[in-house]
Order: sequence, then structure tokens, then C-alpha cells
Amino acid sequence: MLDRKEYILEARKAGKIVVMTFDGLASMDIKDFVDQPADGILYDLNRLEETTLTFIDDIKWVNDFAVALTIRELKSEITRLGNYAQHRIGCEFFDGKPCDCGLEE
Ligand SMILES: [Zn+2]
Repeated sequence: MLDRKEYILEARKAGKIVVMTFDGLASMDIKDFVDQPADGILYDLNRLEETTLTFIDDIKWVNDFAVALTIRELKSEITRLGNYAQHRIGCEFFDGKPCDCGLEE
């Protein structure tokens, strides 16, 4: 039987993420996992900022908090790039004129 570390490393090879839940270990497809909103990711990782701040006696909270901000920024950047791509394909690319779609930022 695989121990926890082997299980997690094997899951990674299969493109899965393993998280600890109230019911024990749970594995899911990493692409599906990161496709959810930042709040969902941070909740599933038990790293919502308000949760992390309850572990303030463990110095690990500093980097856990930074991870939350990093994930939020990366999700925001993904959205921004997606909007920009949609604008470029749907608006600017075809007529070259300024548009008011609101997606170009
Ligand atoms: Zn546009």
C-alpha cells in the first residue's frame, strides 16, 4: 500500500492534485482544480486569507497568506489575458478601429 507521500507524488504524475479535506485525502484533476474561481481554490486548500489569519501563531502563515494573494493575482491575470485575447480576436483584429467592448484593458 502506498504511503501518503507516494500517493500524492503518483497523483501528480497523473495530472492530479491531492488535498486534505475533513473526510481525508481527496484527489482531483489539476486542470479542473485551477479552473475554479480563486475563492474556490483557496477554500479547497484551506488557505483563504481569513482562515490563514487564524493560524497566526505559526510563522508559516506569512507565506500561506502570500500564496493566497499570488493565486488571486494569477487568476486575475488569466482573466485579463482572456479578455484581451477575446477583444483582439473579436474586435480589433477584424476592423482595426477602437471599440467599446470593455475587454481591451
Ligand atoms: Zn474590443
